[in-house]
Amino acid sequence: MSSNPDIKKAVRQHAEMAEFFSGGLTVKKLTAVSPQVNPGGSDPQHKVGGLSVKIARPPCSPETIKELEDIAGETRKCRKCELGSLRKNAVPGEGNISARIMFVGEGPGADEDAQARPFVGRAGQLLDKIIAACGLKREDVWIGNILKCRPPDNRDPRPEEIIACIPYLQRQIELINPEIIVALGAHAAKTLLDTPKAIGQLRGMFHEYQPGIGHKPIKLMPTFHPAYLLRNYSDDNRRKVWEDMKKVLAELGLPVPEKTGK
Ligand code: URA
Repeated sequence: MSSNPDIKKAVRQHAEMAEFFSGGLTVKKLTAVSPQVNPGGSDPQHKVGGLSVKIARPPCSPETIKELEDIAGETRKCRKCELGSLRKNAVPGEGNISARIMFVGEGPGADEDAQARPFVGRAGQLLDKIIAACGLKREDVWIGNILKCRPPDNRDPRPEEIIACIPYLQRQIELINPEIIVALGAHAAKTLLDTPKAIGQLRGMFHEYQPGIGHKPIKLMPTFHPAYLLRNYSDDNRRKVWEDMKKVLAELGLPVPEKTGK
């Protein structure tokens, strides 16, 4: 019996996607690391291509840690919209709370709902590869979503759900205060930038996320959602995501890996 050619094609495409983001990358140069961006002292460092780079800011205060834990606790009890009664688990977000980069997606899917963790399904595996291609580890960044609960059948978030949920993320952003937010996909980019523009128009350049009064704007790079990349596999789309991520690394003064292969 011959196997379905569409499935074979999808498997091949996904293998190529993995190869694109995990293979044939090397650190070409270490761009100057700005002293304002990385105040000296004991910031966490690790090696990228044999070079020591600073990947997080100094540790957060115990008060900040407590506030972030409180927000996570609130999301687990939240019933502000109907998703609160449909979820298995809330997914408050996770990662390094001193991170320089924060990734924000749309909302949990079935795998995330089951595990109470963001980006752990197929899209999450691709996000992990993108992070690794940047010379970083998942533990170096913070990962969250616009919605903390899964919309049934992975439908798009509804405006009333976003309005109910967004204050949690806004508080998390203010407390973590990353240097750059990477908005994954249209819902994250449009919500955080409060714009109706399409992701294709927004991606590829830095915008500003405006936190609450008294907080400085935070640079925001919109890019395609990993799930979109999986559905719309093309050299062009994955190259665009990679170009966006290279701009993020350069802006942070982190080494920018270049592809050595074809
Ligand atoms: N897609 C998202 O937008 N977020 C997740 O956590 C998983 C998939």
